[in-house]
Amino acid sequence: MTANTANTSDNVEKFMDIRSVALAKILDEKGQGLKVVGIYCTFCPQELVLAAGAVPVGLCGTREDPIPAAEEVLPRNLCPLIKSSYGFALTDTCPFFAFSDLIVGETTCDGKKKMFEIMQDIKPVHVMQLPHQHKSPHSFALWVEEIRRLRSRMEEEFNVEIKDEDIWKAIDLVNREKKLLKDICDLNRLSPPRMSGMELLTVTWSSGFSHDKEVVVEMLEEFKDKLESREIEPDAAHKPRILLTGCPVGLGSEKVVRLVDELGAAVVAMENCSGYKTLELLTDKNGNDPVVALAHKYLNIPCSCMSPNPYRMELLDRMIDDFNAAAVIDLTWQACHTYNIESHEVKKLVKGKGLPFLHLESDYSSSDEESLKVRIEAMLEMMGK
Ligand code: SF4
Ligand code: SF4
Repeated sequence: MTANTANTSDNVEKFMDIRSVALAKILDEKGQGLKVVGIYCTFCPQELVLAAGAVPVGLCGTREDPIPAAEEVLPRNLCPLIKSSYGFALTDTCPFFAFSDLIVGETTCDGKKKMFEIMQDIKPVHVMQLPHQHKSPHSFALWVEEIRRLRSRMEEEFNVEIKDEDIWKAIDLVNREKKLLKDICDLNRLSPPRMSGMELLTVTWSSGFSHDKEVVVEMLEEFKDKLESREIEPDAAHKPRILLTGCPVGLGSEKVVRLVDELGAAVVAMENCSGYKTLELLTDKNGNDPVVALAHKYLNIPCSCMSPNPYRMELLDRMIDDFNAAAVIDLTWQACHTYNIESHEVKKLVKGKGLPFLHLESDYSSSDEESLKVRIEAMLEMMGK
């Protein structure tokens, strides 16, 4: 390992520590009145949370442990992400949930919106009514109103006034964070890629847990500099380049990313919402009303709960070219109907570009790891690797 490679690995380790550092800080500052808002989805306009002087924390469950408890209440045949998220809340085993003063949910997929109804028995939950069309004027008007409603709710809950100027400041900060994350992800367009799949996942996923976005922006700047000069073994250029799309993945639900790495291929990009999906969507800072600016940005998120969802296919099409992907793996969590159905369109797109396509359906258990491995291995062999 060269000195440069070691430095970059140290920096990835720092991202792994973000959660524990954030937890210690929140614990410390809670006594002085710090407010925490738990969020479950990239549709939550976290700029508003920041403008309210609160800390947004991601609560999406990525681990299997609390699922059996969740299944006492929720149907077993439900997406593991929803069961894990609810299970952590029910068993009081996620300190970030415990510290949250308000939970913000959205009516994205059916499972999530019904889960939020039940979660209200545990904590105050504010559910944003998300329209499911990107372009319709009615959808846009509704979404603007929903963002205004969230603003009022937080003002009441936290007894603060959320000023426009504070929203613009938060918009600037989140834009800087997203731009840096995109620049970092884009370094994997190079051959050999600058990060392994697990490193890419660690950095993109973990950065969402910071208690202080200014701190994470500094970390990302430092990491980007290190990555730009990282020396990579030239042999890594021969690894098959895989693009991962589909449902969100995090540390704890990373098995497909890890298996691809272990099988000698490279996940060069992840289109899912824990990866690249929102990174091109910066909020326009030139308007008069920050809420309208936020509505434009968030309503464009190409999640499969939108109908139709053409921007996802456009994004995937470009990403396949930009990252020079040699194959696409589409990961669907069991019982996620929207991503499962959309997989048909993804397959058509990928096959149309003459590339191998593999659709995997899985959950958070390790019981299918062997069969996942066999299927990924078979695809790599078919590619002659
Ligand atoms: S996949 Fe869609 S609904 Fe699920 S967390 Fe991402 S943006 Fe939200
Ligand atoms: S993975 Fe699918 S089913 Fe699960 S929360 Fe996201 S959109 Fe809903």
